Amino acid sequence: MKKILFVSSEAHPLIKTGGLADVSGSLPKALAELSQDIRLILPNYQQLKTQGEPRYLCTLRVDNQDVSILETQLPHSHVKVLLVDYPPFFDFPGNPYNDVTGNAWPNNAERFTLFCRVAVEIAMDRAHLNWKPDVVHCNDWQSGLVPALLSLEDHRPATVFTIHNLAYQGLFLGTKYHSLNLPNQLWHPDGLEFHSMLSLIKGGLVYADRITTVSPTYALEIQTPDFGYGLEGLLRHRQEVLTGILNGIDTELWNPQTDETIAQCYGIEQLDQKRANKIALQQRVSLPVNDRVPVLGLISRLVEQKGIDLLLDCLPEMVAMPIQIVILGSGSVSFEQRLQNFAHLYPQKLSVTLGYDENLAHLIEAGADIFLMPSRFEPCGLNQLYSQRYGTIPIVRQTGGLADSVVDALPESIANQTATGVSFHQANAGALMEAIKRTIVLFDHKETWRHIQRNSMRKDFSWRNSAQQYLSLYHEL
Ligand code: ADP
Repeated sequence: MKKILFVSSEAHPLIKTGGLADVSGSLPKALAELSQDIRLILPNYQQLKTQGEPRYLCTLRVDNQDVSILETQLPHSHVKVLLVDYPPFFDFPGNPYNDVTGNAWPNNAERFTLFCRVAVEIAMDRAHLNWKPDVVHCNDWQSGLVPALLSLEDHRPATVFTIHNLAYQGLFLGTKYHSLNLPNQLWHPDGLEFHSMLSLIKGGLVYADRITTVSPTYALEIQTPDFGYGLEGLLRHRQEVLTGILNGIDTELWNPQTDETIAQCYGIEQLDQKRANKIALQQRVSLPVNDRVPVLGLISRLVEQKGIDLLLDCLPEMVAMPIQIVILGSGSVSFEQRLQNFAHLYPQKLSVTLGYDENLAHLIEAGADIFLMPSRFEPCGLNQLYSQRYGTIPIVRQTGGLADSVVDALPESIANQTATGVSFHQANAGALMEAIKRTIVLFDHKETWRHIQRNSMRKDFSWRNSAQQYLSLYHEL
């Protein structure tokens, strides 16, 4: 049995802004189910949704500040969660990274430096909790300093650093470094310095014993200039310790057979019942109720990464086709406005819901026929996995986790029953449009379509599978 400290800045259902929360909520749970002794550590944000009052454990003094450690439980699991309680940094409305107006907290460097220092104290058992982990598993730039600081310790636990999205690096002005009181030994171009800036993600990339990312294809892509943000050289240098492990999904939460948030549950043998969800979705988003037209869904942050501009370029042609489009998301104001303008012009064809709505997300997964994910890059992606489980055929760009989890419906893959979606290569509107048309042709071949739906629904995207791979990695350390 391994003792693992899992360091993350968000974990579902306690606090979530994106895919990192899904992983940090599920992987520790799956590892606990594999009988591992795992604890999660998170900042004690004001919006944390704990069940009951957290329990006070102790107070630590780090960098001349008194920080309390509280303990709670990850809901619906046996995973203990340690909370870093420092109200001057974390007791505010807003999300983990931004204030209520959407601006990054001006003291993010200080906030996550403190969080990492505390994680190091726990990892070295200097909080006297009588528990010293064998492995400290860190995630994204917010916990990047942990491997860096631990590298300076004797008798330290092994470290793993997972990149969920290399686009977010925790870059700050270089002048900040010294005001953070961080050790001088770490400040050089082969350390935390990145072109005179402070790069917190480099703490993980340079100093962790193992680096992982969330799909095998993304692990290769980030070693190239197109995806590496200037870190590709460092990642190539560390390729021996860099691997990709595809994320799993919460198969209880995302289960069409038991999903209480959808209109009608269904399984692989009752695919006809999926229809009730399509009707409920059309009613919910005020599109004409029509069972025969294919409904294309999209749930996403509305940012360039997700290829929203490609979709916008396709919309003029799409609204002339016998299809409906349902979009749920929020993000860039310009994408939001352009999508809404289209929806106002074509209310019979396109519905756009701005905001974050988990229930509607479930209904889209259940009610749509086709799911759109034209991402420019996608470290793993979750919605294409949910879609496959719900028999909603994903159209994806062949990149990162999309490439690793969706099998393009070509004559051969249709024949050998491995096809689960449609994929395209080039990041342009022409290629996306072609993929959409190819999918509509398949949709009209009812029997083939049913086969592809069943292939998708049969796939095992459970966390147990991924957790097993992480466990093997911990054992190698
Ligand atoms: P990323 O982490 O890059 O945003 P992922 O596909 O890995 O993308 O994970 C996104 C998660 O957030 C998924 O669980 C998705 O369903 C959810 N999500 C994104 N936008 C919304 C929204 N507007 N409403 C509800 N859920 C959303």
